[in-house]
This record gives sequence, C-alpha cells and structure tokens, in this order.
Amino acid sequence: MTTIDQFVAAVIASPSQYTELDQIYVHNRILALVGEAEPVEAPDDQLTSLTDALVQTAIRSGKIEANQSDQDILADQLMDLVTPLPSVLNQTFWNKYQTSPQTATDYFYHLSQANDYIKTRAIAKNVVFPAKTDFGELEITINLSKPEKDPKAIAAAKDAPENGYPLCQLCLENEGYLGRLGYPARSNHRVIRLTLGGETWGFQYSPYAYFNEHSIFLDRVHRPMVINRQTFSNLIEIVKQFPHYFVGSNADLPIVGGSMLTHEHYQGGRHVFPMMKAPIDRQIDLGVAGVEAGIVKWPMSTIRLTSSNTEALIDAATKIHQCWLTYSDEQVDVRAYTDNVRHHTTTPIVRKIGDQFVLDLVLRDNQTSAQYPDGIFHPHQDVQHIKKENIGLIEVMGRAILPARLKPELHEVENYVLGRQNQMVAMHQPWADALRAKYDFTETNVTEIIDREVGQVFARVLADAGVFKWDAAGEAAFDRFVAAVNVV
Ligand SMILES: [Zn+2]
Repeated sequence: MTTIDQFVAAVIASPSQYTELDQIYVHNRILALVGEAEPVEAPDDQLTSLTDALVQTAIRSGKIEANQSDQDILADQLMDLVTPLPSVLNQTFWNKYQTSPQTATDYFYHLSQANDYIKTRAIAKNVVFPAKTDFGELEITINLSKPEKDPKAIAAAKDAPENGYPLCQLCLENEGYLGRLGYPARSNHRVIRLTLGGETWGFQYSPYAYFNEHSIFLDRVHRPMVINRQTFSNLIEIVKQFPHYFVGSNADLPIVGGSMLTHEHYQGGRHVFPMMKAPIDRQIDLGVAGVEAGIVKWPMSTIRLTSSNTEALIDAATKIHQCWLTYSDEQVDVRAYTDNVRHHTTTPIVRKIGDQFVLDLVLRDNQTSAQYPDGIFHPHQDVQHIKKENIGLIEVMGRAILPARLKPELHEVENYVLGRQNQMVAMHQPWADALRAKYDFTETNVTEIIDREVGQVFARVLADAGVFKWDAAGEAAFDRFVAAVNVV
C-alpha cells in the first residue's frame, strides 16, 4: 500500500463526506495535490505522519517548493479532505449540544486536533511550570510553538499588494482559505456559528493554544474591540451556552490590550487560572441589589462580582466600567484622560460556578510618562528582561506567556550563576547578580531556583500592571474608587 492509498483509506474512514464509492475520486484529488512522483513512505499510519510524507512527495514531484508556507498550505489542503464541510460540522455540533454542551465541544475539539488545525505537536514544545508567589501559584509558560516568521515570507508580505481578503486572521472568511506566503493556511479551518445578542458570532479553537481548549469567539463583522454593557452581556451569554468554559475579553485600548484590536473577539476555554483561585480580600458595597462584590487579593486591581441574577450582574459591571472610564486619582497617578485621550478601560472575565455567575473586572490604565515611556501600569524597565510585551487577558489571569528567546537565555543565566562559561545576555546581569548574592547555587538546585525567581519577576510584572498597589496608599485609593462607584 502506498502512502497515497493509506491516506485515501484515512479520508474514507474520517467524518468527511467521502465514502467507499469515492475511493478512486479521492485518490485522484490527492494525486492532483502531490503530483505523481514515487510517494515518500510514512513511518506509521497516523494522519500527521501520512500528511508529512505526502508533503515530501509533493516537493519531490515539484508541485510545491520546500518552504514552510507551501508545505503548510498543502498539508492543510490534505487535512481538509478528512474534515466535514462547515454546514455538516455545524449541524453535528448543535445535534450533540442537545445531549450536553460538553458533548458538543468535545466533538469539535477532538476534530480540530485530529485534522491538525490545533497544532498539537508544536504546542507540546512549550515550556510550562508553576511558580509559588505571594499571590498563589502562578503559571509560567515559554511559548515555543508559534513558528518563527520566515524572512522571505515577511518580505513577500511587505511587497504584496494588500488585497484585504480576508480582512484579518479573525474574520470568518478564513474558513477554508488556502493561505499564501505571509498569511496562514486555513483549508482545514472550521467555525461554529452561534448567536449572541441577536447577532452571528463564530466559535473556533486557537491553533497555538496557550491552555486547555483555548477557544476564540469572534464577531461575524470585522469591527474594533470594544468593552461596554453589550460585552458583559455577550460574555455571560457564552457562559450560559458553554457553562464548562470561562470567557473573557481583552481590553479595547493599546498597551493594556491584546495584539488584535481591530476585530472584536473574546477568548475562553477549559482552564482554572491562578486569578480564579485568588480569594476575596474584602467585601465592598456597590449599591446593586443581588450582587456580591469584593476586591480580589490579586496583583492586578480586580473587583469580583457574583450573582445568579445575570441582569443585576451586567448592571453592576456596567456601573463599575462607566465610573472607571472617567475616574482619576492624581495621588496614585491614575488619570482617565490626558489631552482628551482616553486611558481607562477594563478586562472582564466570566465563569459559572454552580448556579452563580462570577464576573471578574480588572481595572486598566494605559498612560505613559517620561519615567515610564512603555506604560505607567505596564512591566517596568527592570523586569523587561523577562517580559516587555502587553499584559493581555491570559496574563492578567496569572499565566505568563514568555517569549521563546527566554529558553536559551535562562540556560545561560544558569551557567552564569554557577560560575560556568556562559553567553548570558547583558540585560539579565543585574537580576542574575542579585540572585547570586541571595543563593548558594548548585547543579541540583539551579533550575528550581531560577524557575521560582522567574515566577517572582512575573508577579512583579503583574503588580506593575495593577493600578492600585498593595500598600496603604494603594488600598486607600481603591476604597476611594469603590466609594465613587457606589454614589453613581
Ligand atoms: Zn477581521
């Protein structure tokens, strides 16, 4: 049996539309894609192994070039053959939903893994470790899964005329899109349609997941991120539909938001983040009946709202958000506007516990200053050797997504503190010297200590991003804000 025959058998056995009668047709479709060179053998009959072998066959046939972009496009075209059409997939999903929401998401999640839309092999390369801090056990990840951008692809994308299709990577128009140099392949991409607030939204998984069942909910319409009453309502509606998932939104301002501000979307999934385990430091009164409110013991300034009454919950969140939009407190550098530019917004996160909805609202301020040109409430200079990127939704909740460079760099820091030959980057020196003064490093304890200290730096990063600090002045300022919300 050739690799092509093996792949034909896999296509027919898959939940795609093809059956036994389509065997010859499917064989010819594959030939059209990979060409007629002697098929490269696969080490086993796993779909990903067969696809890899067929991609190599296509290079041998001269059908594609050996670059990453061509290989990804072809691999996804092959995987498209094992994937149901969007209409069929949506129908199956909602049929399974009748059994339970989890039955439906299990089906979609496993399918998105099986057809290699979720890049399981790449995700497995990520470094993940827990780190104990004063704010509980934080989660540190070093993100090694996203492929490095091919310089050729970057150049091609720069020179290519912007055709505006798809408008962005979060548009529904990516479903089945072939891809091109500098733009990801999406032939095997499928999106579930759902309704939020009377409008059509899409639901998909993240190809380079940062946590379990990392989901993206995207607006059918390409329009900018916004946080308002409708956002809180939509997030609660998602949790009503998928009570086993949390969902949150990145803020709608630069510096304190995510990397995609141009297309309205939320992120959710099946993971309990460190922030969700953080206790309430003190109860507060917001003057909204039926809603319990408290300040969370968390480095970023967070108000936790709990209620079984979702309308009351939306009222309370809107009240806080509206008040924060125009709230300033010079004593702690908090300013809603400077020169008519808005600086305030919130990062909301919703989940369901029993019959209670829990909404965590994180206060954000994106001012910059001469002292802190990257952001007053952003990781400050002395911790930027670990993290200088935006503190978005996932990190707000206590899961660090650190850049790939840190894996080799931290190894060099280990060499340095052990007094071995090293190529430590200069920016780590002050930190490494402080650690050397604090610990007796040995071969056996060095990794554990460095990991723990990375956790300490991440806790500092989050504290920098918090608008009200955990000191007497910060706590008093937080109480002043709560009082201001209460009188609105
Ligand atoms: Zn878009």
